[in-house]
Amino acid sequence: AAGIELANVTRRFTSPTGKVFTAIRDVNFTVEPGQFCAVVGPSGCGKSTTLGMVAGLDKPSVGSVRVDGKEVDGITSGVSFMFQQDALLPWKTVLDNVALGPVFRGVGKKQAQAAARDWLRRVGLKGFEDHHPHQLSGGMRKRVAMAAALINEPSILLMDEPFGALDVQTKAMMSNELLGLWEELKPSVLFITHDLEEAVALADRVVVMTSSPGTIKGIYDIDLPRP
Ligand code: ADP
Ligand code: ADP
Repeated sequence: AAGIELANVTRRFTSPTGKVFTAIRDVNFTVEPGQFCAVVGPSGCGKSTTLGMVAGLDKPSVGSVRVDGKEVDGITSGVSFMFQQDALLPWKTVLDNVALGPVFRGVGKKQAQAAARDWLRRVGLKGFEDHHPHQLSGGMRKRVAMAAALINEPSILLMDEPFGALDVQTKAMMSNELLGLWEELKPSVLFITHDLEEAVALADRVVVMTSSPGTIKGIYDIDLPRP
């Protein structure tokens, strides 16, 4: 089965006054296991709506969304996400933020912290374990969020414009880190961006969406080696 499969997915929203709005219509694409897939398109074309349904935060009005061959029904273990706004807990240290996933899964605190320490080293944040999120730069917080997503060794990694607000240099560095970690762990990745250049540089498969309502404009498989 495909890592991720969307079949004839339509999502409509009804406003408080009863007006029906179609956010995405008849979306079909798959992400093969271990594939890095980018979804690109203008603001408002339904990228986040699409990702939310794969994450189990939302359901299609019509059609089917499957992860590892199973219809998505709520948040599933094995699926990690990283949103545009990092979701770090401000009152917890960087170390405990990264350790959160394993602790929730019932791993002992000591063992979870040891794993978190290791992941912080891998994203270049050794020495920042005892800092709190507000003491870090935006780029550093993104790296914490990446460690927190990857520590769960997800088979599916969902990212919504994770590097959106970063400067060019930090973005390039984070992209390289992400590609290195992806090569190692090989999760199926669904990566949302409005930046076509970023999509083409990172992904094996690029799904291009268009607005009003969001539909698929094209799906392109890229087999050039990455830089
Ligand atoms: P993108 O991520 O491509 O910018 P979104 O998926 O966020 O697009 O939004 C697609 C469209 O659906 C937008 O017009 C947005 O206003 C609308 N939309 C998204 N979520 C909701 C919601 N919960 N209720 C009503 N409309 C929504
Ligand atoms: P930005 O998001 O501002 O571009 P980066 O994540 O690229 O920042 O961080 C650049 C470098 O600046 C970091 O590797 C780190 O050495 C240093 N740095 C940034 N913020 C802090 C801080 N609060 N304390 C210590 N060093 C910092």
